[in-house]
Amino acid sequence: MNDRTYLDHNATAPARPQAVAALGAALAAAGNGSAIHGEGRAARARIEEARGHVAALVGADPRGVIFTSCGTEADALALTPAYARGGEPLALDTLLVTAVEHAGVLRGHRFPPERVELLPVDARGRLRLDALDEALARHAGAGRRVLLSVMLANNETGVLQPVAEAARRAHLQGALVHTDAVQAAGRIGVDMNALGVDLLSLSAHKIGGAPGAGALVVADPDLRPDPVFAGGGQERGRRAGSENVPAIAAFGAAAACALRDLDGEIGRVAALRDGLESALRCEFPELVLLVGDVDRLPNTSCIALPGVPAETMVIALDLAGLATSAGAACSSGKVGPSHVLDAMGVPERIARSAIRLSFGWSSDEADVERALGVFRRVLPGLLRRARAA
Ligand code: PLP
Repeated sequence: MNDRTYLDHNATAPARPQAVAALGAALAAAGNGSAIHGEGRAARARIEEARGHVAALVGADPRGVIFTSCGTEADALALTPAYARGGEPLALDTLLVTAVEHAGVLRGHRFPPERVELLPVDARGRLRLDALDEALARHAGAGRRVLLSVMLANNETGVLQPVAEAARRAHLQGALVHTDAVQAAGRIGVDMNALGVDLLSLSAHKIGGAPGAGALVVADPDLRPDPVFAGGGQERGRRAGSENVPAIAAFGAAAACALRDLDGEIGRVAALRDGLESALRCEFPELVLLVGDVDRLPNTSCIALPGVPAETMVIALDLAGLATSAGAACSSGKVGPSHVLDAMGVPERIARSAIRLSFGWSSDEADVERALGVFRRVLPGLLRRARAA
């Protein structure tokens, strides 16, 4: 990877050395976390240590952490109409989600499509609180119980949502509140209590853990979403299936590093991102910076070179040694118009040219220099072809 520059942390961050070590140690050891022999108890200890680190990353009670296989499964576990609290059934009627959520959330996971309502965002991609108020009042007036899901940070633009304010308003109307914090965790401070949410999703491979682990964190351990599948009693009966001990151990190690380094990393990573953005804008005045003027993650940049299709740009940059992504690239390498930019009302010519650069723990000044060199080599030719077309 030496001659390559990786600016796609929002798709998958490189695994941190501490996570690789934890993964290897757990993989080398036998033991099922439910077994009572010594090896099983050692596996259990690894799981519980990781649970503590993951809970600490978001300021939660470790008993509220339910390990899953990924962020998508955490979202699927949260987005169900069937809950129980203190053993009593708690049925939800309607799911409200913002129009810029990640794919699975947008489709409502286990809610039937006719019970999912999309909430509009403003031109910068933030939930419109007036529309939220209207929807909450309408459903409460009709006696319908609501689950609201608002992501903390957008994966394509990095824009931060007013989750705490949305949760406050939703709770006043008796709703439950979920936030997908997959992109925010480890990049900004996340405190479940300060946000006031009931449920929060995480994914290990976005913070430098290994793919194969995620978590749904429940603020009140007595609140139980209906399990996604039936089986053994793992995770206090909330998520059946033998735990992926190596991936969970790596998740815990990554969470511990992310929390330990967070204060310094926010400024360091933002300086790298801002440095590249301003150099690019200075050298290529045609370049459009989407959502530069709003609260956003320190690591994410969404830029467009109008007239140059995003996929053409991503391929050209890749061939020159720079990994970036177009639109919601984590969904299968497919490239299509972004529903996020569409919901924000970004003109199609710009939206079709938008690419994402995302930095992280492994990024440094040398990455910025190399990335700038690649842009200098690649963009003039792309611009010439776009002008001639
Ligand atoms: N939520 C958001 C905001 C994401 O960006 C992603 C992945 O990119 C997911 C959920 C899904 O996470 P996972 O890849 O662990 O399933």
